[in-house]
Amino acid sequence: MADLLEKRDRKGERCIICNQEKEGLGIKEDNIVYFLRWLNSHTVKYRNPNYPVVCRECFTKYRKQRKSYERKLISYLIIGFLFAGFIIVGSGGKPLSFLFGLIIIAFMYLLSLLSYIPELEIGQNKESRGKSKAKK
Ligand SMILES: [Zn+2]
Repeated sequence: MADLLEKRDRKGERCIICNQEKEGLGIKEDNIVYFLRWLNSHTVKYRNPNYPVVCRECFTKYRKQRKSYERKLISYLIIGFLFAGFIIVGSGGKPLSFLFGLIIIAFMYLLSLLSYIPELEIGQNKESRGKSKAKK
């Protein structure tokens, strides 16, 4: 009975690294993931929604990509802030330059999302994954 509530269709699990339909660790569904999904559902590229996971084979690769994404995000933001700073200082602190600076930072952030790698759900609410009892 409670099945209906709890049931999250795990069918269509697709690894975000190798893009194959495999079982794996679920990703954390943060705002960016929702946003990207929303974006995806409003563009022509819309496909059947899959449940994004990272499969066992790709885990090491995933960690690397996630790390490089984090580094990228930070350096993009630093560049954005530097540019914004230059513009604001260069314009002598005109109000419009602050707006312009913000736009640049937002743009750099969006740019980093092109290579967005979501976090994994590990350690978060451990949903009943039934059979797989993590014991090493
Ligand atoms: Zn994979």
